[in-house]
Amino acid sequence: MSDRILVVEDEPKIANLLRRGLLYEGYAVDVAADGESGLQMARDNPPDLVILDVMLPGIDGLEVCRRLRAASDVPIVMLTAKDSIPDRVAGLDSGADGYISKPFSFEEMLARIRALLRRVRVTTTSREEIRFGDLTLNYATREVLRGNRRLDLTAKEFDVLQLFMQHPRQVLTRDIIYERIWDYDFGGESNIIEVYVRYLRTKLESNGEPRLLQTVRGVGYVLREE
Ligand code: CA
Repeated sequence: MSDRILVVEDEPKIANLLRRGLLYEGYAVDVAADGESGLQMARDNPPDLVILDVMLPGIDGLEVCRRLRAASDVPIVMLTAKDSIPDRVAGLDSGADGYISKPFSFEEMLARIRALLRRVRVTTTSREEIRFGDLTLNYATREVLRGNRRLDLTAKEFDVLQLFMQHPRQVLTRDIIYERIWDYDFGGESNIIEVYVRYLRTKLESNGEPRLLQTVRGVGYVLREE
């Protein structure tokens, strides 16, 4: 059964980004636009994790966090305004397990969710590695191997490759890649994806290995053997 994530966020743009992205990753998702309905949903359908905005109409996120915490140990990620240290401190004080400040990228959020769910579920087999062909990517150590060769990737290169490895043989459009790796306010008009794909290919193929990141003209890219 898939993990259920409750998103409590009143900004439709962010709520939709999270809902779409999390559904795509195979999570069950409930969205509440205010604290009152968020608490109600958490009672009716207990979530495995809660993403909770601090600034909400009605009962604010901190109070929602305290009430959720009083009722269960569910992991809670707070969404805070950019650089708001007081929000972060208050969030952790009210029982949140962590915070992410806006604007965030979906991959950043996903990494946080996976880490928290993994921590909760120590007994089940946690998959720390994913493989595709002769590529191995380790989430925990952020190490990538092609065969026995270790690749030296930057943080962003790692994120881009991880996205492809989580969706092997699936064409990823430019929009999806922008939305996942860069934040939702990113312009999307630059050639940044092309640049990163070029960097990755150079590193992936430096020993003359066959190409794994293929271009799908006019659409995007796909990880597959030629
Ligand atoms: Ca808000």
